[in-house]
Amino acid sequence: MPTRASAWVNRFAGLGAPFFTALPASGMPVPHWVARSPDCAALLGWPADWWQHQDWDSLNVLSGNSAWPGSSPLASVYSGHQFGVWAGQLGDGRALLLGEIETAAGPMELQLKGAGRTPYSRRGDGRAVLRSSIREFLCSEAFAALGIPTTRALCITGSSLPVWRETPETAAVVTRVAPSFIRFGHFEHFAHTGQHQALRQLADFFISHHAPECLDAADPYAALLERVTRQTATLMADWQAVGFCHGVMNTDNMSMLGLTLDYGPFGFMDGFDPGHICNHSDDQGRYAYARQPNIGFWNLHALAQALLPLIDKPAEAAGEDLLAVLEGYKSIFAEAMLKRMRAKLGLATVREGDKDLVDDWLKLMASSRADFTISFRRLAALTQNGDAERLLDLFIDRELFGAWATRYLVRCQAEDSVDAERALRMNAVNPAVVLRNHLAEGAIRMAQAGDFSETERLLKVLQHPFDLPARASDAEIPPDWAQSLEISCSS
Ligand code: AMP
Ligand code: MG
Repeated sequence: MPTRASAWVNRFAGLGAPFFTALPASGMPVPHWVARSPDCAALLGWPADWWQHQDWDSLNVLSGNSAWPGSSPLASVYSGHQFGVWAGQLGDGRALLLGEIETAAGPMELQLKGAGRTPYSRRGDGRAVLRSSIREFLCSEAFAALGIPTTRALCITGSSLPVWRETPETAAVVTRVAPSFIRFGHFEHFAHTGQHQALRQLADFFISHHAPECLDAADPYAALLERVTRQTATLMADWQAVGFCHGVMNTDNMSMLGLTLDYGPFGFMDGFDPGHICNHSDDQGRYAYARQPNIGFWNLHALAQALLPLIDKPAEAAGEDLLAVLEGYKSIFAEAMLKRMRAKLGLATVREGDKDLVDDWLKLMASSRADFTISFRRLAALTQNGDAERLLDLFIDRELFGAWATRYLVRCQAEDSVDAERALRMNAVNPAVVLRNHLAEGAIRMAQAGDFSETERLLKVLQHPFDLPARASDAEIPPDWAQSLEISCSS
C-alpha cells in the first residue's frame, strides 16, 4: 500500500497547467466503510486487510478527510458532446486524480469520485450519492469478473452528509482504479479551444505511456485512432453480448483505453427489446441498446475530428486518412459480435449461415421479450433429444421456436457437438447473474438503512458471474416491482 510518500507518481500532473487544477479533496463528516473489493485490492497488490493497517488512516484518506501523503490530487479538464450536441467545457466536476501507484499490472491511477467541488463542477455539488456509488462499485467489479474492459472500484465510504437529488440522499466516495481515465473529451477540449500545442502534448503523453506501439507507425496519431477504434468496437461487442446498456454514451464518458467508464443510469436487459432505453432521462432513445454500436462509431468520429490538427497533411488528405481508419470499425465490430455470439451459442467452429442463425435467435428472443441472460443459459441445456421444457417457457410462439431449435441442433450436429460439452462451454461465457436493476436496488435500500451486507453479498456473487448463485432468485426473472424502477441521470 502506498503509505509512503515515495510510492506515488503523478505523470498526468507533469503535463502542466492547461490540463488540470490541483486541489485537495473535501471530506465528509464521520465517514464509515460501505464496501471494499478484495479483487481490486489484489490487482493493486494489496493484502486483503489493507484497510486495517495501522500506519495510515485509510477510512479518512479515502473519504477525502486527510491528504494521502505523496499523492497530488488534481481535477482534469475535458469537454465533450452530450446527447449528440457540443457541450463545451466539462471536466472532473467531482473526481480527483490522486496519482499512480506501481502494480504488477503496470501503473494504476487512483481517483476519488464524490470528494467535493472542483473548478469544473459548474452547478454541481461535487458529491456522489450512496445509491449511484453502490451501482458503480458493483458494476465495475462485475464487469471485471465478466472479462469486460472497465475501470475498477476499490471501495466506497459513506457519511450522513445530506446530498440533494430528486429527494434527500447521503454522500459517498468511490475510489476508482484504472491505468488512465483519459477520455475522448480530453482531446476534444484542446482541439475545440484551438490549443493545438497542448493537444499534441496530450497525444504524445498518451501514446508514450499507454499506447507505445503507435510510435512504430508511419503516423502515430492515425495509429492511435486505429487503436481506439478497435478497442471501442470490441467493447461495444462486449456490451451487446451481455445485454448491457450504458445509458450516457457522451464523448466525455468514452475511455481512450476502451474501458467501460462512468457507470450512471446503466442497465442490463431483462426481457430482450433491442430498442430498450435504460436511462429514464434519454427521451429520444439516443443511447438505446441497439444503437450503442453506432453511437460508439459516432463518438469515434468526434475523436477523429479532434485528432485532425495533429495529422501532418493538408486538411482534406488528413481527413481522408482518418475516415479510412474509422471505416475499419464496422467490420471489427461485426466480427467481434459474431465471435461472441458463436461462443454464446456454444458453436466451436465457423460455418456459413451462422450469422443468420444468430440473427434469427435474437429476433426470436425479441419477439417474445425473452429474458436476455436466462435465454442463453437455458439454451445451454437444450439437447439433441429435444429436452427443452424450461427454454420453451420463454417463448410465446412455440412453433417459431421449434423451427429455430431444429436448425440450431442440426448446426450443432454438423460440428459433432456433444451436448454436455457444449453446455459447459456456453455456461462459461453466458453469465448466470448480471447486475439487474432490482438486485442493485435491493442492496441500495438496505445500505440506505445502514446495512451493507447485501452489497457485500452481491459483490461476492458478481465476482463469480458464471456460477449458479446460492440464492436462486439472483439468477431469475425480476419480480414485478422491478418494472416500476426508473433509473435516471441523477447521481
Ligand atoms: P456525467 O453525466 O456524470 O458523466 O457528468 C457530466 C459532467 O458533469 C462531468 O464533468 C461531471 O464531472 C460533472 N458532474 C456530474 N455530477 C456532478 C456533481 N454532482 N457535481 C459536480 N459535477 C458533476
Ligand atoms: Mg461522466
